[in-house]
Amino acid sequence: MSPALPSYDEAARMVAACAARILPPAAPDGIARVPLSAAAGRVLAAPLRADFDQPAFARSTRDGYACRAAEAAAHAWLRVAGSTRAGQAPAGPLASGAAWEIMTGAPVPEGADAVVMLEHVENNGERIRLHSARTLAAGENIVAQGAQARAGDELLPSGTLIGAAQIALAATCGAASLQVYAKPRVAILSTGDEIVPVEAEPAPGQIRNSNAPMLAALVSAAGGEPWVLPPAADSSDALDAALETALAQDAGAGLLLITGGVSAGKFDLVEPALLKRGAHFHFTGARIQPGRPVVFGEIPRPATELVQDQGRAQHQDQDGAQRCFGLPGNPVSSAVTFLLFAAPILAALAGRREHGPRFALARLKESVNSKSGLTRFFPAACTFGAGGLLAAANELPEVNRVSWQGSGDIAAMARANCFLVVPEACDSLAAGALVRILPL
Ligand code: AMP
Ligand code: MG
Repeated sequence: MSPALPSYDEAARMVAACAARILPPAAPDGIARVPLSAAAGRVLAAPLRADFDQPAFARSTRDGYACRAAEAAAHAWLRVAGSTRAGQAPAGPLASGAAWEIMTGAPVPEGADAVVMLEHVENNGERIRLHSARTLAAGENIVAQGAQARAGDELLPSGTLIGAAQIALAATCGAASLQVYAKPRVAILSTGDEIVPVEAEPAPGQIRNSNAPMLAALVSAAGGEPWVLPPAADSSDALDAALETALAQDAGAGLLLITGGVSAGKFDLVEPALLKRGAHFHFTGARIQPGRPVVFGEIPRPATELVQDQGRAQHQDQDGAQRCFGLPGNPVSSAVTFLLFAAPILAALAGRREHGPRFALARLKESVNSKSGLTRFFPAACTFGAGGLLAAANELPEVNRVSWQGSGDIAAMARANCFLVVPEACDSLAAGALVRILPL
């Protein structure tokens, strides 16, 4: 293992620095409007603002009686002066010595400063009184008008990944559609003389191309638009031709993922082919396993192309560079290096503020032997909230390695739901240790 290779942290820092320089996609081509039904997984291209105060009226959070807390807390009998259901306009003002029947979600009448729960009063038909064992303070069971947001407030900044909660918020604000960034186009090129299409019956020595569909799925899940190119053979000519297609300006790919051909083998020709295209590399290898040969670089685009192609420059930064990764061909290596390094670049190209990757903590079930000098990522199974139980507030999910035969073992990865991270300095982890995982 070469000491010149960056550690995982060093490589991740280089990726993060590169991601930070990427500008979000720009109008007109880089921004679109989509209905809420199509907004999940997209990235906000304009801030979401509150059109009204939230809530727009002081809202009861209980079924009960709106009242003045001081009067109710004195355990006086209060006359029930009226009733408001959810959907009715605010009533009031509330006379002193009176209470007002109210349902969850209904507007609290003016003059009331608390809602007493139905279950906490005695009721003689016309009047109510707080149970002697109970107290009531001003503000109880009421969400004040504007407590969550004020009209005009920025609720979500642009660059926010849109999920169910953001869609609910947009709907609350009356936004039936949202401005989102265009999905970055990601070229996926698999290399290798041994690769045959999924539909083919592999001859002895051949294997089906699993990396291309896997990476396409990873790209889609990370908010990109996968563009799967025909695989290239292990020859300079084949690679040159494939790169010509992948990097063509009118193809508009802001990111290129190449799998295979980056190890030190005789037919590993990806690096020289990228160099011919003017690539400069941030790293060619990292102290990780699997995925040690991973290559990350940028390919400048000729100045003339930039001038002709202002609109397409949306997915490149100021200098118009296209990012490229050479991912090792072994499927587990490809997946790990995508998640660790390519996904953050893709997130930046998609206009996201947060670039990741997102690690989590778990408790190791059985001890793990590793070897120091490389940060290792083992396919593992984590019991994220198994059974939906939270036995104790401080209980962490448990993680265990799945048995595997090395970085070609796709079946092991398919049984896993995360990678267990063993830091570079460790040659073993004891059962019960607090460990980092990278969810799949
Ligand atoms: P390489 O990185 O080209 O040396 O490939 C390493 C291993 O990954 C070899 O066993 C390849 O056959 C395998 N491999 C390369 N590309 C793919 C692919 N697209 N799908 C599945 N396995 C692959
Ligand atoms: Mg190969």
